[in-house]
Amino acid sequence: MVVVEVVVVTDQLNDSYDVVVVGGGAAGLNGALMLTRSRRSVVVIDGGKPRNAPASGVHGLLARDGMPPAELLERGRAEVRGYGGHVVSGEVETVARADTGFTVTLADGRTVRARRLLVATGLVDELPDVPGLRERWGRDVVHCPYCHGWEVRDQAIGVLASGPMAVHQALLFRQLSADVTFFSHTTPPLDDEQAEQLAARGINVVHGEVASLEVAEDRIVGVRLGDGKVVNLQVVTVATRMVARAGFLAALGLLPAEHPSGFGEHIPTDATGRTDVPGVWFAGNVTDLLAQVGSAAAAGAAAGAQINADLVTEDTRWAVAAHPFSAASEARVAELVMGSRRHGL
Ligand SMILES: Cc1cc2nc3c(=O)[nH]c(=O)nc-3n(C[C@H](O)[C@H](O)[C@H](O)COP(=O)(O)OP(=O)(O)OC[C@H]3O[C@@H](n4cnc5c(N)ncnc54)[C@H](O)[C@@H]3O)c2cc1C
Repeated sequence: MVVVEVVVVTDQLNDSYDVVVVGGGAAGLNGALMLTRSRRSVVVIDGGKPRNAPASGVHGLLARDGMPPAELLERGRAEVRGYGGHVVSGEVETVARADTGFTVTLADGRTVRARRLLVATGLVDELPDVPGLRERWGRDVVHCPYCHGWEVRDQAIGVLASGPMAVHQALLFRQLSADVTFFSHTTPPLDDEQAEQLAARGINVVHGEVASLEVAEDRIVGVRLGDGKVVNLQVVTVATRMVARAGFLAALGLLPAEHPSGFGEHIPTDATGRTDVPGVWFAGNVTDLLAQVGSAAAAGAAAGAQINADLVTEDTRWAVAAHPFSAASEARVAELVMGSRRHGL
């Protein structure tokens, strides 16, 4: 006999769950997968704006290289639902401490209670204020040699300097193309060592502020400088300031802090994603600004396992407290209380 399991996709939101996962990207969904497979009741509440949404494919991810981001997440949602998890579209607006956990309120007014929280809300990439950059972000304005580098290999690449790692970024992209131009834009002048490195690798340096991107037929064709001069190229790379999406947690005292790298703001956690606030874990870009899809997913899975272990400890404590005395526990208590004076047990 063939057994066909039908998974009904709904936006069902119960009153309470063992775990509410806020954010349904790679980190949140993998956390939910671990928890549902541990027979935990779980809902993933997701705003539907994963960081890599503008990209055509997820690269550098073993066995899924090049898969469109939306398809990867759709598969993840189906896997979570396959184990009985709920996945709900919505934006979490506030989280408040409640008697035995948390009350989570969505922007549409719905509320849900949770024993534990896994926050995997990712980050926002803040781009330099240059007209045209935002519109082309994730297509021919890129940031990461490991995400898009192979795709832009051998093209004319402009590095728009926006921070202290700009020279390093130029050297990384030089590994992928011999045609790299460094635009100093508004950053401080290069020191002698940096200038020598760029010259030695054949990277042109253009001084002066970049005014805008030149676009024709839905492709970048150049960069226009403040003085009107246009430098022809096909791709622009830029480093963003990365800011954790965690404003809705302020009531719990969880505020973003400057990341030690200087790349932006994150929520600091220990290695397992645990915070100083009991019952709240973080995974993915919201805490680890440099996480790729694979490492975000791995962090979500690890946090999911930690949360399950924490709940097992609590369930066991409650079970022991509710358990009527057995002969063995009577004997243990008698031993503790009476010692050698006990008899008849
Ligand atoms: C243009 C671009 C291309 C990239 N390409 C690659 C690549 O090729 N390979 C690779 O490995 N990495 C790539 N990355 C990095 C990748 O995007 C991240 O590693 C990954 O998205 C991190 O996953 P995450 O689950 O932490 O966050 P996200 O994927 O950003 O998911 C967070 C989710 O939480 C939701 N959310 C946020 N706030 C709330 C809220 N208050 N309530 C409910 N939901 C909320 C968001 O809507 C979103 O769906 C790329 C990044 C960019 C910017």
